[in-house]
Amino acid sequence: MPHENPTDALLAHFDRTRRDMPWRRTSDPYAIWVSEIMLQQTRVDAVIPYYERWMARFPSIEALAGADLDDVLVQWQGLGYYSRARNLHRAAMVVRERLGGRVPREAEELRRLPGVGEYTAGAVASIAFGRRVAAVDGNVRRVLSRLYDLERPRAADLRRLADDLVPAARPGDFNQALMELGATICTPRSPRCDTCPVYRWCRARQLGVQENRPRPKQKKRVPEEHVETAVIVREDGALLLVRRPEEGLLGGMWEPPGEHRPAAVRALIDGADPGPEMEPVVHVFSHKRVTYRPRIHHAVGASLPDGSGVAWVTGERLSGYALPVAQARIARRALRLLGGGLSVASHTGA
Ligand code: SF4
Repeated sequence: MPHENPTDALLAHFDRTRRDMPWRRTSDPYAIWVSEIMLQQTRVDAVIPYYERWMARFPSIEALAGADLDDVLVQWQGLGYYSRARNLHRAAMVVRERLGGRVPREAEELRRLPGVGEYTAGAVASIAFGRRVAAVDGNVRRVLSRLYDLERPRAADLRRLADDLVPAARPGDFNQALMELGATICTPRSPRCDTCPVYRWCRARQLGVQENRPRPKQKKRVPEEHVETAVIVREDGALLLVRRPEEGLLGGMWEPPGEHRPAAVRALIDGADPGPEMEPVVHVFSHKRVTYRPRIHHAVGASLPDGSGVAWVTGERLSGYALPVAQARIARRALRLLGGGLSVASHTGA
C-alpha cells in the first residue's frame, strides 16, 4: 500500500535500506556522540576505522576524561579538524566532573558542552535518547530545500521546518533517514529521483528544478598564507618539535617550529647553521590554504632541554607525538634527505 505521507515513506525506506555502521549497533550515547563528532566534515568509510580504534582506546566517558590530551590527539591523527578532538576531551571532563558521568539527554543541555553545536545536539538527543528534535546537516538542508522548493533557506527557518517534521515516534531514525537520503539518493548532483521514497511529495522535482535547490552559495576566495618552518636537527640526528598553544588551529599538536616559536627556540635557530631549503608543502584547510616552506637548520652544541612544549625526538618516539599531516610530511622528507633512520607515523586526511 502506498504511504500517505513523506515521513512514513521515508522511515519504511530507511528500514529496508539502512547502511550498517558500527555506531548504529549501539545505544550508548557516548559512542553515538563520538561518531557524530567524527562524521562532521568526514566520510563514513573514512571514519569507521578511527571510530573503532577510538572506542577500543577510550571505551567510556570516564576513559576519555582520564586520558592525556597527547594520547587523544594521537588517536585523532589524520582525521583533521583537531579542535573536534580537543573539545570532545574537554566535554568528557565536564560530563565526568559536573554531570556525574552522564551524557545530557536534552538538546539544550548538550549544546552547553564544548564542541557540541545545534546539529550534534539534535543528533545525539534524538538518536540516543529518542528526543523529538531535528538534526539539520548539509544533507538534510539539501533534501528539505528540494522537498519544499526552497531556493535559499535561512538556517533558522529550516530548523523550524525540520523540527515540525520530526515525528514523536522514532525521531532518531527519522533524522538518520533524512541524512541518509541526502547521502545516497538526493545527492548534490544528479539526484536519483526515480528511486526516491518521497518522490511524490517533492516540489522541486515536480518543477524540474531539483538540481538547483538549494541555490549554490557564492564561493569566497580562500586566503593564502605562507609559513616558514624550521627543521632543526641536532648532531645526534634528533629533530626538534614544539607544541602549539592549546587554543587555536591545530592546538596542542607537535610540529617542527612554524609560526609558534618560543624565545629559546628562536635563539637556537639564530645560532644554528642554516642548511638547504626543502620543497614546500601545501595544506588546504576549510578556511585557508597554507604553504609551508621548510628549511633545515643544523643545531650546533644545542643545549635546549626537553620539556615545557619542546621535545627532541628520534626514531620510534616520533610516532608517539601527534603531528598535523603537513608537518608530518615535512619531518618525513627531512629525515629522508638527511639519511636518518627516523620514522613518522603515516596518516592521511585534512
Ligand atoms: S525526488 Fe529527487 S530531488 Fe526530490 S527529494 Fe527525492 S531525490 Fe531529492
